[in-house]
Amino acid sequence: MAADDCLFCRIVSGQIPATVVHETERTLAFRDIAPKAPVHVLVIPKQHEPTLAALAAADSALVGELASTAAVVAAAEGVDTDGYRVLFNTGPDAGQDVFHVHAHVLGGRPLGPMLSAFTG
Ligand code: AMP
Repeated sequence: MAADDCLFCRIVSGQIPATVVHETERTLAFRDIAPKAPVHVLVIPKQHEPTLAALAAADSALVGELASTAAVVAAAEGVDTDGYRVLFNTGPDAGQDVFHVHAHVLGGRPLGPMLSAFTG
């Protein structure tokens, strides 16, 4: 079910343009508009779910499809050998801006540590 006010649902429906790099029956992968690395692709389910937890509760098989699409995209973008990072920001502490679940696929340069050290 699409959400009328959801940016990524509007990309799925074609109302907002995106540079699509891969599509399956239930997933879509497109380039991030503000890339943080030479390769920065967002992988989303076409179905609207706000977060990874909501998607897992609604359709756990689709979580697997997102992971498979992320791996296909990484190989197609040529970052599978040197490595890449897949991340899901979830909620305000993680800085999630768009509440349509999406995996960021990042690569094409050394990405550094995942986070700075926790000092308590
Ligand atoms: P997050 O902060 O995890 O919710 O990530 C949202 C991502 O969506 C950010 O990296 C944005 O640059 C990206 N973004 C926002 N609008 C668009 C758009 N129209 N097309 C592609 N990526 C977008």
